[in-house]
Amino acid sequence: MREKKLKITFWGVRGSRPVPGRETSVYGGNTPCVAVEAGETLIILDAGTGICNLGNHLVGTRKKVKAHLFITHTHWDHIQGFPFFTPAYLPANELYLYGPNNLDRSFADLMRGQMVFPHFPVRFEELKAKIHLNDIFSGDRLEIEEGLFISTAQNNHPGGGLSYRIDYRGRSCCYLTDTEHYSCIDAYLKNLAQGADVIIYDSNFTDAEYEGTSGYNTKIGWGHSTWQEGIKLARASGVSQLIFFHHATHRTDEELFQIEKEAKVIFQNCQAAAEGKSIIL
Ligand SMILES: [Zn+2]
Ligand SMILES: [Zn+2]
Repeated sequence: MREKKLKITFWGVRGSRPVPGRETSVYGGNTPCVAVEAGETLIILDAGTGICNLGNHLVGTRKKVKAHLFITHTHWDHIQGFPFFTPAYLPANELYLYGPNNLDRSFADLMRGQMVFPHFPVRFEELKAKIHLNDIFSGDRLEIEEGLFISTAQNNHPGGGLSYRIDYRGRSCCYLTDTEHYSCIDAYLKNLAQGADVIIYDSNFTDAEYEGTSGYNTKIGWGHSTWQEGIKLARASGVSQLIFFHHATHRTDEELFQIEKEAKVIFQNCQAAAEGKSIIL
């Protein structure tokens, strides 16, 4: 049997805000959070509301939580779960947080900002876990554990943001969310994703929604992409597996079924990310 090298689990797949309810119960309504296990090392991508359930799962299954948490950017939907991430409250735990800064504000300031009184009753400084906050930049390549590399590229998104690539023992996955495509393939993302086993891609819109032929107006300049553009990027980068991610708040389970069906005709190895599902590489 082939050794499992990377295990990717989706805890939150929705963009913008949580959307609980009957029409989203299959794919899930929590905002972005993806866990990637690389051997014994836990990487968490984004801290949307999906991280709350992940946190409870970790506390229930591990004596001590050590995790590397990479934030794409500090829009609410990508950090709003962090104040409810149980492992951050327990002194035995150790969390390494990485994310981009914004002009004169460090990543640490941005993370602390959402917990400032009276918006939240607990201040960041009162969290009991050992927390290390690190600014990370486009073009960085870090070796966070032996043989486990994280590379970054810049996103096309209001206020900026980073995409991430994880490489471990010949397996690789890319997390490319909150980024808008250009009229030609985005060279930064193409370089980052080149030859990866899987890409998780911002598929907030359909092409018709993006162009404004479906919905109330065009979404050009909103900083998000489409599933059709995900297929173009996957092809350009030589990537064999594509996961649609950051589903729009209005996207029902039924619509996601239809998108998967339509997309598989032109790119067979694709699917819409669903909470609770895992991919093993
Ligand atoms: Zn988002
Ligand atoms: Zn955003």
